[in-house]
Amino acid sequence: IKDVLMDNDLIKDLVDVAKDSALLNGVLMRTKETPNSSEVVTYAPFTLFPSPVPKDTFHQALAVQTHYNRLVDKISQDSSFLEEALATTIKVDDFTGRLFNIYRHVLQEGKIQSIVLGLNRSDYMLDQNGDGSASLKQIEINTIAASFGGLASHTPNVHRHILKVAGRLEDSKRILDNNPSAGLAKGLAKAWELYGSERAVVLYLVEELQRNIFDHRYVENELWKRNIPVIRRQFEDVAKTGFLDQDKRLFVDGREVAIVYFRNGYMPQNYTEQNWEARLMMERSMAVKCPDISTHLAGTKKVQQELARPGVLERFFPGEPDVVDQIRATFAGLYTLDMGPEGDKTVAMALAKPDQFVLKPQREGGGNNLYGAEICQVLEGVKQSTERMAYILMDKVQPRPVHNYLLRLGTPLKLSTCLSELGVFGAYVRHGQDMVLNECAGHLLRTKSDEHSDGGVAAGVAVLDNPLLV
Ligand code: ADP
Ligand code: MG
Ligand code: MG
Repeated sequence: IKDVLMDNDLIKDLVDVAKDSALLNGVLMRTKETPNSSEVVTYAPFTLFPSPVPKDTFHQALAVQTHYNRLVDKISQDSSFLEEALATTIKVDDFTGRLFNIYRHVLQEGKIQSIVLGLNRSDYMLDQNGDGSASLKQIEINTIAASFGGLASHTPNVHRHILKVAGRLEDSKRILDNNPSAGLAKGLAKAWELYGSERAVVLYLVEELQRNIFDHRYVENELWKRNIPVIRRQFEDVAKTGFLDQDKRLFVDGREVAIVYFRNGYMPQNYTEQNWEARLMMERSMAVKCPDISTHLAGTKKVQQELARPGVLERFFPGEPDVVDQIRATFAGLYTLDMGPEGDKTVAMALAKPDQFVLKPQREGGGNNLYGAEICQVLEGVKQSTERMAYILMDKVQPRPVHNYLLRLGTPLKLSTCLSELGVFGAYVRHGQDMVLNECAGHLLRTKSDEHSDGGVAAGVAVLDNPLLV
């Protein structure tokens, strides 16, 4: 394989084949120049070759997903846990604070919708152990707008084809099937059926710039196949035309909304005052929210850190020590930066060995975390003040690098040293007290050059990949 990677003529031919295959298989993205038009589109960024992932850790990640679904769902129902876990964060982080205000508002008014739909993605990296083995470590869980399930359903055929053309037929046969589109759509469809109105629509709440629309469309089309109507609207549309009737049913553009599927609304830049109002209205409504505000908060980095405290998982899974063990086995070291001796210890530890940690604010979408020297700069500035409570500290996971070519429009071709991140999609539906659906909905492998500390496909760093189990 090393020789192949160094054979420039062969690689150039394969890259041409690869790009055409991506287009033929619908691994697509709109361009930066025309993000709201499909007149001219390009391939979504992807690796030339699939990346090795150890079989046991891959299956471990799939197997723990239904437990993570239950965990997120339990957290979302535990108001005293959420209050305590986020108490310090919301004092200093305005964005989380505003989300929390909506949460309190809805709690006080009383939730009127007993259907809960969760579509999440739990992300992992494989930490190298001294003995050459690797341990599955969770990076984070995304409970809002977890993306690339649509495109990931179509990348396996691309890599199968590339491997065949490269003369690796046996490897080609080992590329796994993957269909998160179907799994995510199944969750949406179940919640829509339970809502129980044929005319009511699934509203995709989308961004202004829609480069990644094809990823959405795959799931959307699964719904249309089931005769479930879908509309795509922005916060502004909801603000302008949305209202609640006397039963708090949500109407947007004259259509009753069964489900609001948030593919936007996870970062501060998504919100004007008007958009905050619209979010509140949707949360107060009878529509099923994916995610609802409490599930959104359950996905914060601060909650992740609090879960790693001794005894916390036991609280959520009394009498289920196996579940606790399976989840906890995936935790990396997570440390509080709250005021007090524990937080002081975290500061000292981070400043002493900044390269061993990641400093994380309560943000999503990639590009927000701090590494190495930046950790020292930021911590020196905030270590004496409550500002530090906006962050958590995490052990840096150190995966084993592999070589690959990252194919991205406008980026010159070069051999990169790469790190991969494995995502696992979860889908669940709860109706009152009954979990009526709880499934692992597929996987996503993303790979980036090791020149980048942070990740994210939308952030322009990571690209789509497939695991080749080893
Ligand atoms: P976001 O919600 O912005 O995606 P993440 O926690 O996933 O935040 O961090 C973004 C990226 O930073 C990840 O995709 C990964 O590449 C890198 N990263 C985050 N946490 C760690 C960690 N503990 N060890 C190594 N890399 C990390
Ligand atoms: Mg995230
Ligand atoms: Mg992430």
